[in-house]
Amino acid sequence: MQAYVAEIQSRPCFICELVAGNANGNFEIFRDTNGIVFLNKYPTLYGYVLVAPLRHREHVTGDFPLNEYLALQRLVYRVAEAVRESVPTERVYILSLGSQQGNRHVHWHIAPLPPGVPFEKQQLAALALTDGYLELSAAEMQSLAARIRERIDTFNSGVIRGLAICVFRDGNRILVGEGYDPIKRETFYRPLGGTIEFGERAEETIARELREEIGAEVEGLKFLGVLENIFTFAGKPGHEIVFVYDGKLSDRSLYARAELIGVEIEEGGASFKAVWKSLDEFDPVRAPVYPDGLVELLKNQSVLLQG
Ligand SMILES: [Zn+2]
Repeated sequence: MQAYVAEIQSRPCFICELVAGNANGNFEIFRDTNGIVFLNKYPTLYGYVLVAPLRHREHVTGDFPLNEYLALQRLVYRVAEAVRESVPTERVYILSLGSQQGNRHVHWHIAPLPPGVPFEKQQLAALALTDGYLELSAAEMQSLAARIRERIDTFNSGVIRGLAICVFRDGNRILVGEGYDPIKRETFYRPLGGTIEFGERAEETIARELREEIGAEVEGLKFLGVLENIFTFAGKPGHEIVFVYDGKLSDRSLYARAELIGVEIEEGGASFKAVWKSLDEFDPVRAPVYPDGLVELLKNQSVLLQG
């Protein structure tokens, strides 16, 4: 215990180290733009995880603008649900402790109390290190992390998302990102763009997303219509209101490229492929394109433009 105390008081911030890629025996489960999730290295309960902001913040509320705090709490909620689905749980404990004398980087404990623990061994007694911690092998920690990760990935918030996308029409072709649904085993396509952030206009969303995803500037955005997209992805239901735009890529050489490799910021930095496809190539079974109704919208727009 003394050695542990000496360690946490003298070492560099272990959460910043973990964020930078120096795991030092910690098992990372998940990270996104809001925070990082990892297994408690000294768990007193099976499935005990920690959630922390990526940036070094210390005071649980005082160091956060409200929107950043709430974004992190959404992640805490999502992780707690994932933990609850991954291990037998009678009750989830969520708390933030920390000390200015060590463990300064603020973090939330998410600890699942298993069923059947006698009352006097619940609550703080269940978290205390006085009886030692669970010795789990690296393989067990890895498989536990993978189980929780899978559930975080497929979590559905029940929130309707507002999206803005742009088709960049070029004759009969449009630019689409390629996606894959592991449950349906389906490769699908969707135009580039993304979630509208609070206070942002749809056109600004498109400009930002294209800059982030493929490093491209856009111009001449023209509103085409709104589509309602109600779907399942990876086994979970989704609901989006999608503003559809046409526009031009400032760099005309991109129209001649067979494919563009992009980065999906919202999915934690995963890469994806964008390709030019003709509207006739889409097919509900062999090559579906989302949001639903997109091809019809574009074909109707053509008729209007020609008429
Ligand atoms: Zn830190």
